[in-house]
Amino acid sequence: MSLKMRAAVVEQFGQPLVIREFDVPVAGPGQILVKTEACGVCHTDLHAARGDWPLKPTVPFIPGHEGIGVVTAIGEGVTSVKVGERVGVPWLYSACGHCEYCLTAWETVCAQAQFGGYTKNGGFAEYILADPNYVAHIPPGLDPREAAPIICAGVTTYKGIKETGARPGQWIVISGVGGLGHLAVQYAKAMGLQVCAVDIDDRKLAHATKLGADAVVNAKNGDPVETVKEATGGGAHGVLITAPSLSAFKQGVAMTRKHGTCVLVGLPPGEFPVPLFDVVANCITVRGSFVGNRQDMAEALAFAAQGKVKADIELQPLSAINQIFERLEHGDVPSRVVIDFSAV
Ligand code: NAD
Ligand code: ZN
Ligand code: ZN
Repeated sequence: MSLKMRAAVVEQFGQPLVIREFDVPVAGPGQILVKTEACGVCHTDLHAARGDWPLKPTVPFIPGHEGIGVVTAIGEGVTSVKVGERVGVPWLYSACGHCEYCLTAWETVCAQAQFGGYTKNGGFAEYILADPNYVAHIPPGLDPREAAPIICAGVTTYKGIKETGARPGQWIVISGVGGLGHLAVQYAKAMGLQVCAVDIDDRKLAHATKLGADAVVNAKNGDPVETVKEATGGGAHGVLITAPSLSAFKQGVAMTRKHGTCVLVGLPPGEFPVPLFDVVANCITVRGSFVGNRQDMAEALAFAAQGKVKADIELQPLSAINQIFERLEHGDVPSRVVIDFSAV
């Protein structure tokens, strides 16, 4: 009899996930099989399950791109990963390895890229098939449950902060201090920046202060753009927008200092207006940023392994997935929920 596993599946967009039993997949040539220990729940999983974006996954699919586990089997020809190693199966599931983007460490925008928990089945399952060339290597000593948020929320914000070009001593705005943002505050402090955290929830802002934010602004009160400009002496050198809200994008561009850079990582569906005169006359850069490459991943994990960044996690069993989604949708998750596969 074949080995069975449980997984949470999106069978229809906008419908609750269904827990089903499947045969454990077999690692084919060039693949590895990972026994999941933990998987973080990212707001992206919610967008995926709702079919929010122009490029949609094909239903049914298993979401989850913060899965951490131990390699239990390797397929023919795999030499870079061994049975027993702890790896993470990230959003960047695989890429072609040969195109202009892959050759220049921009594999995240490879046209052949596959996405974990989106175009490939992900970590809301007891086992995950993975590409050994693109898995995250989890440093020894880092708890798998604490490593989980690093392989999406961590690498995305670490890379996004670098993409702002802000230097030690300068100001950065972190807009949205949820799963991504609570790590962004810590990376930014560890990188020597002054941090102004922006959210619409005072509890999230109190948490940001505990994590080292130098200033906090509630975007629901008064004129948040003016408040940020006052706190930062004319706007932040870098702005990182993680909030899944279009109003945060418009405000974020306006919070950017002259000649500063506003990096967009939040992915609410839709578009937002850019005030051309202000952006042009103030020489502001607005750029998107999408997770990070494999070297960014190794660096983001090293910060966590060294204790400079620590994910604040709430553990839940796989069976709670629909309640977790409901809470995430309503901003009721303090930082990151991580599915703990040792809990049945
Ligand atoms: P989350 O739900 O954990 O956190 C979102 C935070 O934004 C919450 O604290 C919420 O209170 C706050 N917020 C909501 N509206 C706001 C507003 N108007 N102003 C300021 N703050 C506001 O979500 P998450 O897991 O951190 O993901 C955030 C977004 O980032 C999602 O859209 C997700 O898809 C996207 N994402 C992008 C990438 C990428 O590579 N670009 C990677 C991961 C996630
Ligand atoms: Zn994610
Ligand atoms: Zn490529």
